[in-house]
Amino acid sequence: MDLKQLKEQGLAEIIESESLEDLKKVRDLYLSKKGLVPQLMTKMRDLSPEQRKDFGQEVNALKQRLLDESQKRFEALTQEEMERKLASEKIDLTLPGVAIDLGQLHPLTQIEREIIDVFREMGYSIIEGDEVELDKYNFERANIPEDHPARQMQDTFVIDIEYLLRSHTTAIQTRALEAFAPQLPIKVLCPGKVYRKDDDDATHSHQFMQIEGLVVGHGVTMADLKGTLELLARQVIGQDSKVRLRTSYFQFTEPSVEVDISCHLCQGEGCSLCKQTGWIEILGAG
Ligand SMILES: [Zn+2]
Repeated sequence: MDLKQLKEQGLAEIIESESLEDLKKVRDLYLSKKGLVPQLMTKMRDLSPEQRKDFGQEVNALKQRLLDESQKRFEALTQEEMERKLASEKIDLTLPGVAIDLGQLHPLTQIEREIIDVFREMGYSIIEGDEVELDKYNFERANIPEDHPARQMQDTFVIDIEYLLRSHTTAIQTRALEAFAPQLPIKVLCPGKVYRKDDDDATHSHQFMQIEGLVVGHGVTMADLKGTLELLARQVIGQDSKVRLRTSYFQFTEPSVEVDISCHLCQGEGCSLCKQTGWIEILGAG
């Protein structure tokens, strides 16, 4: 192949190379140490000294031309590749974003906080205690000895001979009494989870919330209890709420009462929610 043919063919192959990989192959073929262009130099031997000079210059010029062209092609291919990449990774800024729901507090947490606020304003300390409790604080000190039928009634989750999952927040109260007495007055509110073996359905659960309040002081009467519960009902249920006490029995208190509030749905007229009585039982006290 003579110099002119080599030039035409080399330039054509450079321009036709479709990828950087192809281009490298073409460059190696023509311009590497043992490539087609350096091989031309072997023809120098057959030439006269004058011809050698011209031929040498022509070969160098060819080499430079091919280098320049392959550099141009390299830049063009690099640019093409980048554009292809940018097109394939294009981000559509007009797409709507992913909405993040903020959510809200669980209804139990909401009502628990509302009740806590009412009692905190009345000067109560809030104590949560531990869910794993000693039998001593859960039963014995709540006036429920080992053979007491209330222990079966409450179907407690027992961990071992000493520990259990507390079956009522009274366990927090018995601890509070031990911690604070004989300093009076004691005013504590004990909210928390309690556990009892129960078949879960719409109105029963093996785990539920209780909130208990405890007041110990001189001259504290049932009237204070009723006034406190009336304030609670007005603050949490509504300003028109009424409170009714009915005598009852609990192991922990004497005298004991069941506490009803006027039905907030029918305002005491009687409806299906209050079973036509106009009252809804909300808690036990004493
Ligand atoms: Zn009602």
